[in-house]
Amino acid sequence: MSQRVLIVEDDTEVRNSLLRWLSMDGFQVSTLPGGAQVNDTMAAGGVDLVLLDIGLPDIDGLTLTRRIRETHGAGIIIVSGRGDLMARVVGLEAGADDYITKPFQPREILARIRSVLRRTEAMRQVAQEPAMACHRYVFDGWAREVETYTPENPE
Ligand code: CA
Repeated sequence: MSQRVLIVEDDTEVRNSLLRWLSMDGFQVSTLPGGAQVNDTMAAGGVDLVLLDIGLPDIDGLTLTRRIRETHGAGIIIVSGRGDLMARVVGLEAGADDYITKPFQPREILARIRSVLRRTEAMRQVAQEPAMACHRYVFDGWAREVETYTPENPE
């Protein structure tokens, strides 16, 4: 199943470029022109990563970053016109996984998206492991998975 990226960007040209590049690379893509609907979109579920413009007309991108980080497990990449050290540090401390400065190249942004998705996916799997172990019962040389009911003999 392809992963879903939410693009939040008020600049139509940048938004459409990102939409085109990500779609061509096999991602499912949703777009929003501002921050107002981000909460509803995230609450509906299924978003693996948010590409978030920090300079939005309605809601401050840092506030959005904190809000998404507190309530969802999705990866967050900030996209900003400011590339100075202070702006980067503040963005990462707000909870972003990465920070990209405009203008950017398609190959760079795609590589960073894949990198963040690899990390968030690995963290999700680690978080699920203890729960999985509870569903496996071993008795008398036989193991049984509660979810699948597939008997196996571990010898
Ligand atoms: Ca902007």
